[in-house]
Amino acid sequence: MSEEVKLSESDTEFEEKVFLVADEVLTILRELSQENQKQISSKSIAEKMVWKGTLKGLLRNKTAQASPETAKDSPSKELESLSNISDMVLNRFSELAPAALTDELSDLKDSIVKDSALHGSTEWLDSPINFVKRYIESLVRKNSDLEDFMQQAMSYLAETESHVAGEMNSHKEKFENDNAFADSLTANMNELGQNISVAPELGDIKSALLGKIQNINRKVETKKEEDLTRLKDTEDILIQMGRKMSEIKREADEIRKKSQAIEFESIRDTLTGLFNRRAYDDRITETLANLERYDVQASIMICDIDFFKKINDTHGHKVGDIALKKMASLLKDRLRTNDFIARFGGEEFAIVLPHTGLEGARVAGEGIRAFIDKSKFSYMGEEIPLTISVGVSEFKKGDDDTSAFERADKALYLAKQSGRNLVKTDQDLP
Ligand code: GH3
Ligand code: MG
Ligand code: MG
Repeated sequence: MSEEVKLSESDTEFEEKVFLVADEVLTILRELSQENQKQISSKSIAEKMVWKGTLKGLLRNKTAQASPETAKDSPSKELESLSNISDMVLNRFSELAPAALTDELSDLKDSIVKDSALHGSTEWLDSPINFVKRYIESLVRKNSDLEDFMQQAMSYLAETESHVAGEMNSHKEKFENDNAFADSLTANMNELGQNISVAPELGDIKSALLGKIQNINRKVETKKEEDLTRLKDTEDILIQMGRKMSEIKREADEIRKKSQAIEFESIRDTLTGLFNRRAYDDRITETLANLERYDVQASIMICDIDFFKKINDTHGHKVGDIALKKMASLLKDRLRTNDFIARFGGEEFAIVLPHTGLEGARVAGEGIRAFIDKSKFSYMGEEIPLTISVGVSEFKKGDDDTSAFERADKALYLAKQSGRNLVKTDQDLP
């Protein structure tokens, strides 16, 4: 309260009423501001005051305390009351006014107190009201600027929110990008939050906006957590899939190896490792087909160990087996890799020579016979004679599965008959 205005003890009640008036005036100003009055004029305030029952009553009571004569005769007393009201209003406002307006407010107060010549009915209100009006306008302008800002911020946040919601589906590569996105979003949100928290009072808009920011920050955090969980899930699945894949690969490998082994065993002779009778049959079919379709020459050679029974009888069955293995090894060493060597049965070997006519086969037969004859086979330091007799025949068109073999077998028989350790062809047959 201004020091220049002295109120007596009996005026305490009046002082309280002045406070009430000040509050009412403030209320009126707020109402006028909220009603979006284009111009908050002293006239509009006075009109509101007239309609305010409380103000009417207060002023009437005060004037009623003085005698009508005194009131009539002392207009200065009434003016003093009005001046007090004006002063009180300004004092109340000084609590609210922003720092920028403090000096102006103080000048205004001084002028009102000094100006004892304030006359007229409503004009006394002009100065403080104009001041308050400017203050309110400045607040409204500020609010409108901030509201624009809030609107922009809100729409930005709404966009961001939907963006965040849309970003929910992601995986590893995206997760990293999203993390950067989330971090920058959080930084933006925090910055925005700081800006707002230093902004002037904005009541509901401010708390709504701050709530919105918190909400978005929570969503960002949730999204990051969900992305991380999803990423971990995906990684787990990938690891499991990887394990399953190598398991399947290993199993497939095993199966393939087993099947290869089975296939290998099914066409191999267990003792010598050479092809067996079954493989021989297939090879004959193939050889005959190649001859029929493509005129691919081929010959057959049957090699039979001479006096093998004697080896068994003299050295035992086990040594006989060793002799068979030795024979297999010698055949493989001497013959070409595309020559097909099968153990046909017992101590008899059938060899298919592809791309080889009868003469070539005879030479090959002679080569292998001489090679084996030359080789030394010994057991327990004792040399054991190991020779073969060979019968040769060339495949001919129109041959069936056994024709060439039978001709070669006859030639073999001839070789045996002719003294063994010999090569005979079907052309040698009588
Ligand atoms: P030749 O010169 O006339 O061919 O006389 P050979 O004794 O070789 O012929 P023979 O047909 O009389 O005897 C073949 C022997 O081969 C009879 C059999 O016991 C033996 N034999 C057959 N298969 C095997 C085998 O897998 N291991 C052993 N150790 N001996 C076998
Ligand atoms: Mg024999
Ligand atoms: Mg035999």
